Amino acid sequence: MTFELIIRNATLPDGRKGQDIAVGSGRIAAIGPEIAAEADTTIDARGFLLSPPFVDCHFHMDATLSLGLPRLNVSGTLLEGIALWGELKPRLTHEAVAERALRYCDLAVSQGLLAVRSHVDVCDDRLLAVEALLEVKRKVKPYLDLQLVAFPQDGYFRSANAARNLERALDLGVEVVGGIPHFERTMADGAASVKALCEIAAKRGLMIDVHCDESDDPQSRHVETLAAEAHRLGLGNRATGSHLTSMHSMDNYYVSKLLPLIAESGINAIANPLINLTLQGRHDSYPRRRGMTRVAEMRALGIPVALGQDCVMDPWYGLGGADMLDVAHMAVHGAPMTSREAIRWTFDAVTEIPAHILGLEGYGLAVGANADMLLLQAADPIEAVRLRATRLFVIRRGKVIARTPAREAELSLEGRPASLDPAAYAPSSA
Ligand SMILES: [Zn+2]
Repeated sequence: MTFELIIRNATLPDGRKGQDIAVGSGRIAAIGPEIAAEADTTIDARGFLLSPPFVDCHFHMDATLSLGLPRLNVSGTLLEGIALWGELKPRLTHEAVAERALRYCDLAVSQGLLAVRSHVDVCDDRLLAVEALLEVKRKVKPYLDLQLVAFPQDGYFRSANAARNLERALDLGVEVVGGIPHFERTMADGAASVKALCEIAAKRGLMIDVHCDESDDPQSRHVETLAAEAHRLGLGNRATGSHLTSMHSMDNYYVSKLLPLIAESGINAIANPLINLTLQGRHDSYPRRRGMTRVAEMRALGIPVALGQDCVMDPWYGLGGADMLDVAHMAVHGAPMTSREAIRWTFDAVTEIPAHILGLEGYGLAVGANADMLLLQAADPIEAVRLRATRLFVIRRGKVIARTPAREAELSLEGRPASLDPAAYAPSSA
C-alpha cells in the first residue's frame, strides 16, 4: 500500500530509535521499525528526534509584536509595561491586532509551535481584540490551534464593565474564563473574583485559567481560593492557576499545607519562566528573588505543571521568538533543576502536559492521532532543550508546513574537520 508520508529512522521522545512513522488521511497510520510500504513523500530523519508539536499554554496574542508602539519600555519594568499597554490600548485597531497575531502565528509555525492558549483583554467595551483574535483563530485553524481566554486584565471588579464584557466575550465564542485576582483592589475582592469566575466556568461548562498571585507578596492567597473553589464546584483539571509567583516567597509552613490542597483539587499549574524571572523580585536589592513558582515541589505531589511563554516582543518583554525550547531551557536555569530527569521533564512541559491542559484532541505520537509532528536536529529531548534545536520539518495533518535547513558550521582550521553539526555533540550515552 502507499501512504501519504513516511518518516524513516526517527528517534521518538520515549527513547525508541530507528522508528518509521507512516501517515494516511492526515493521521498516524503506523509506527515501527522499517515499515515495508511506499509513500508519496519520504523524509529521512537520520536518527533525529521526532516529537509532537510544541504547545504554549500561556500567551498574550493581542499584545505580541507591539514592541515599540507607541514607544519602547525603557526601564524594562512591569509598571512601565502596564502604563505602555494603557497608552497603546485606545489606539489599537482590529486590522493591526489581527495582522500582528497572524505574523506571530507564522513565526510560531516555523518554530513547531502549533497550539497556543492566548489570554485576550476584555476590558475594552469595543471588545476589539476579542473580535480580532476570533477572526485570527478561524484563519489559522488549518495550521494552528488557538484557544482564547477571556481575560479581565484591569480587574474583574476593579474595571467598570469587565464583568459584563467577560460574559459578552464568552457569548462570542471565547472558550476559557480568565481572571487576575491579585490586581483587584483588596485581597477580599480578589478572592470574591475567583469565586465568581469559577462559578461562571462551572455554569457554562468551560475551563478557567487565572493569572493567580503574580506578585512577590508572600501573603497572596488566591491559588488557595482557586483550589478550594475548583474542589467545591468539581472543576478539577478544567481549572488552571497561571504564574503562582508569590509561592516563591511564601512561608514554607504555609506551603506545606497549600500544596496538598492544590493536589487534592486536581487543578493545573503554569509557570512562565521567561517572564517570572524578569518581572519578579524587582523591588528587591540583594538577595534578589527569582520569582518562579515551586515547580519541583508541585511535581513531586503529582500536580500537573506546564511551562508557558507569556510574552514575545510586547510592552512587558522585549525578547522572545515563539521558541518553546527557549522556555524549557530557561526553566532549567530559573528553578534551578538540573537532574537528567528534570531536564527531560521540561520537554514534556512544553509538549504533552500543556496539550492535556488545553484538552487538545488527537495529540501525540500514537497510531490514530493527528499526524502533527516535528523533526528536531537533536538526538533526544534533553539535547533538544540544550541546543534549542533547529526545527528541520514541521508537519501538520501529514503535510510539511515549514522547514528549516539543518544548522551546520563550516570551519577553516588546520588539521580539524571542515564542517560541524552541533547535534553531533550529544553525550555518548544518549
Ligand atoms: Zn499572562
